[in-house]
Amino acid sequence: MGKVTGFMEYERLEEGYAPVAKRVKNYKEFVIGLNAEQAQQQGARCMDCGTPFCNNGCPVNNVIPDFNDLVYRGSAQDWELALQVLHSTNNFPEFTGRICPAPCEAACTLNINNDAVGIKSIEHAIIDRGWAEGWVRPQPPAQLSGKRVAVVGSGPAGLAAAQQLARAGHAVTVFEKNSRVGGLLRYGIPDFKLEKSHIDRRVAQMQAEGVVFRTGVLVGEWPADSKVTNHAQEQVSAQALLQEFDAVLLAGGAEQSRDLPIPGRDLEGVHFAMELLPQQNQANAGDKLKAPIRADGKRVVVIGGGDTGSDCVGTSNRHGAVSVTQFELMPRPPEQEDKPLTWPYWPLKLRTSSSHDEGCERTFGIATKAFLPGKGKDKNRVAALQTVRVQWSGGKMSEVEGSEELIPADLVFLAMGFVAPVGQVLQAFGVSQDPRGNARASTAEQGGYATDVPKVFAAGDMRRGQSLVVWAIREGRQAARAVDAFLMGHSQLPR
Ligand SMILES: Cc1cc2nc3c(=O)[nH]c(=O)nc-3n(C[C@H](O)[C@H](O)[C@H](O)COP(=O)(O)OP(=O)(O)OC[C@H]3O[C@@H](n4cnc5c(N)ncnc54)[C@H](O)[C@@H]3O)c2cc1C
Ligand code: SF4
Repeated sequence: MGKVTGFMEYERLEEGYAPVAKRVKNYKEFVIGLNAEQAQQQGARCMDCGTPFCNNGCPVNNVIPDFNDLVYRGSAQDWELALQVLHSTNNFPEFTGRICPAPCEAACTLNINNDAVGIKSIEHAIIDRGWAEGWVRPQPPAQLSGKRVAVVGSGPAGLAAAQQLARAGHAVTVFEKNSRVGGLLRYGIPDFKLEKSHIDRRVAQMQAEGVVFRTGVLVGEWPADSKVTNHAQEQVSAQALLQEFDAVLLAGGAEQSRDLPIPGRDLEGVHFAMELLPQQNQANAGDKLKAPIRADGKRVVVIGGGDTGSDCVGTSNRHGAVSVTQFELMPRPPEQEDKPLTWPYWPLKLRTSSSHDEGCERTFGIATKAFLPGKGKDKNRVAALQTVRVQWSGGKMSEVEGSEELIPADLVFLAMGFVAPVGQVLQAFGVSQDPRGNARASTAEQGGYATDVPKVFAAGDMRRGQSLVVWAIREGRQAARAVDAFLMGHSQLPR
């Protein structure tokens, strides 16, 4: 274990942030990771619990006490071994080390009566050092299987599956409708949380391992009126994939945004978050955009109190919005969680993101009834929101009488989550959908990500619904094992 008395000697140390005034001037990452000495001290806080709850709290079951101990020991050899431990359960710790909400830390035993071990910051330090030292290298397979696998979608689920399958010796082709690889890592999550060079570096590694990426290729058909960013130049039918490949893994995400169909929804200036965020990431990548959405000098209201909403807040502030307000339907959560009640599970508590710290008024318990237009030349543009306060009792919501208000706004972003996969890809393959519209496929425990169509598998947000990067990585890894077992009759891939 780390240092026997480490948890009593050392306090938890948070990663640093560049000052707000500096970081809002650009879209670069601003988290200042732990240096080797700091990470070593933080690793020393781990108690190597007999039952490491963190390991179960982590959706990919990272072997956390082992890498904490190796970082505490501190030699270069130990760090390289820590990287191997990390990679044994997680293909892309540079993504999770940056943007995972860290359910592992909620589950850490120290979190019961102290501050949790800074697991995510240690993970971040290990993988960044790994890349800097040249320890992350391609691992091409020793032997090829002669089997061909198509992966539809290049988000974290598709990427994790493709890497695992290529390492097992299969010829893997990833089909992606967008012009660049990465799914929501590329076009949803802002650069200031995850710079895209991290994805490019992994793609190069995977290409060296034999994975072929075909971008700008839409699998199946697309509704003509789709609002989803779609750069596809080429279309490939489900039949063609089924003929050409021995197995197909559908990892197309859950891209259908939840709408707010109230009066005024069609006014100019009311957008889905996923209209704003991909545009900004494209602009950062040097793409020339026609009339991109801009918040400069505008009063912005973001509807939806989650991470996507917070990303709209950070992006609007970087544009130079005059004010940013975020609405949340639910009541304000408590500042502190009720630890005895919730540990080791993810607790309900007020979460303030780095984007909130950059300037944002947060309003809880508020519902929007209508978007109201301006006058004269602005008669087609949003000018205000008609709102009402809401209260919750016994899980039921009711309006507070007399609490109606008009909130001025020039730009509104809808960030209320995602309801289901879009497009006809599931129908094109004949895959059944569950009542929420997700691909119906079993989990590893239930038999292995197989859909009801022979040789077609599904994983990630497309199967489980809107979730997290770490869950997508888990599903991609487990689905790869299921596909490998289907193709070869057995699999040596880890779960
Ligand atoms: C704005 C935003 C911020 C987020 N922030 C975080 C965060 O901080 N931390 C976190 O853990 N999670 C975050 N998430 C959630 C996380 O990004 C997703 O859960 C995760 O990316 C899902 O991975 P996936 O591989 O299943 O799907 P996706 O990442 O959605 O990738 C699916 C890919 O499939 C492609 N595709 C779909 N249909 C087709 C088709 N027919 N043909 C070809 N290609 C197709 C899509 O273009 C896309 O590239 C965020 C989500 C959003 C929207
Ligand atoms: S992937 Fe997420 S949950 Fe797992 S160890 Fe890293 S930060 Fe914790």
